[in-house]
Amino acid sequence: MLDTDILITGAGSAGLTLALLLAKNCPDLPITVLEQGPAPVAGPAQLNRVSALNLASQRVLDSLGVWQLLTAKPAYQQMQVWEADSFARIEFATTDLGALAQTPALGWIVDNEELRACLYQRALQYPNIQWKFDARIQQISASERQNLLTLADGSAYISKLLVGADGANSMVREQLKMPLAFWDYDHHGLVAVVRTSEPHQATARQVFLPTGPLALLPLVDPHLVSIVWSVAPERAAELIAMPADQFNQALTAASQSVLGVLNVQTERRSYPLKMRYASQWQKHNAVLVADAAHTIHPLAGQGMNLGLMDACALAELIVQNISTGRTCNEQRMLRQYERWRKAEAQQMIALMEAFKRGFMLQHPLAKLVRAVGMAATNQLAPVKRQLLAAALGNQGDLPAVARPGVISL
Ligand SMILES: Cc1cc2nc3c(=O)[nH]c(=O)nc-3n(C[C@H](O)[C@H](O)[C@H](O)COP(=O)(O)OP(=O)(O)OC[C@H]3O[C@@H](n4cnc5c(N)ncnc54)[C@H](O)[C@@H]3O)c2cc1C
Repeated sequence: MLDTDILITGAGSAGLTLALLLAKNCPDLPITVLEQGPAPVAGPAQLNRVSALNLASQRVLDSLGVWQLLTAKPAYQQMQVWEADSFARIEFATTDLGALAQTPALGWIVDNEELRACLYQRALQYPNIQWKFDARIQQISASERQNLLTLADGSAYISKLLVGADGANSMVREQLKMPLAFWDYDHHGLVAVVRTSEPHQATARQVFLPTGPLALLPLVDPHLVSIVWSVAPERAAELIAMPADQFNQALTAASQSVLGVLNVQTERRSYPLKMRYASQWQKHNAVLVADAAHTIHPLAGQGMNLGLMDACALAELIVQNISTGRTCNEQRMLRQYERWRKAEAQQMIALMEAFKRGFMLQHPLAKLVRAVGMAATNQLAPVKRQLLAAALGNQGDLPAVARPGVISL
């Protein structure tokens, strides 16, 4: 039986960030990370899945020494969002922030697997983290006294605090019967890397089509973008099955040829998109973070950013507790974490819903209202600055490590 203070299930971006922050700030705290897959392997970005990270996440990764390890992290200095078949359009640039709030970029595109590999590489420096890969969880029980987790190979773990960082289909959430609200967005997100005949000019683009949004995220090569095309599940299946030539035509048309002719370079994959929200994030001595607690539509590229902030918030509270002689599983502290991060997640879920529903309305009046609203917003510097602050992750109740000008916890 292995006894540990903190047991984290899931070595995704959130679980690894949490382990790293805790290990760095509490060198005597025994931490164990359990992951069902193999250990992340360092290597060049494969670009199977990428994420747009905001400034708040960039600051966290920078303070952990992880940012420096990423080989490919193309920045974008502009964003363009528009609606097909209408004059609704809004553009953002780093210069919109004004001279007092300079930022090197509006966001960065990172490869999910490379990010995991860099987080892991950094975390290996801390001897207080134990690792168990290819772990098959069999049973989890949590009580007021302790948590017990058993694996299929017969090993067992007792922990003071169990953290479910095990993604959208969290087994911790399921086995501990933490209630979940969800609805289908009726979209699948089709992702692929695409070559463009026109250069992307370090601009992230998103067009809202009547069927759903298409995002074109700039990669290091000025003629390569990563797409997230949200369409009905049946359409996603058709788009994946069709020959490359036909797909390229459909994609070029959907993008309104904004980057000229598009040519798919990789396998096309699609992910069902669901809103998930656990109504309880902590039970006894177990707690959920990131996708295990909430998933949102990828249309604003905020899911990973939100999850990283959960990890930072939980780490901050645990570190504070330990440094003041309290325990890592104090109920008051876990409830504080839950209240803090639920408020942020709820806001983001509501915003994504408003965006999705708002843009799906095809009534001519709705289109006119959108067009006028976007045109007005595009002209109003203070409103644009507000929107930009939100996109950069500079708004809301940020964990200390993610705030501007703060280097570590
Ligand atoms: C199409 C698409 C595009 C997206 N684009 C963006 C974007 O541009 N920007 C952004 O911020 N977000 C984006 N997101 C969201 C982002 O990908 C997720 O929010 C983020 O990856 C979640 O991280 P996580 O660590 O919580 O979960 P995961 O990355 O899912 O990691 C969970 C880990 O737990 C492990 N695990 C699962 N079950 C078990 C178990 N039983 N035992 C042990 N280990 C287990 C898994 O193997 C995995 O390693 C996108 C999502 C989609 C679907």
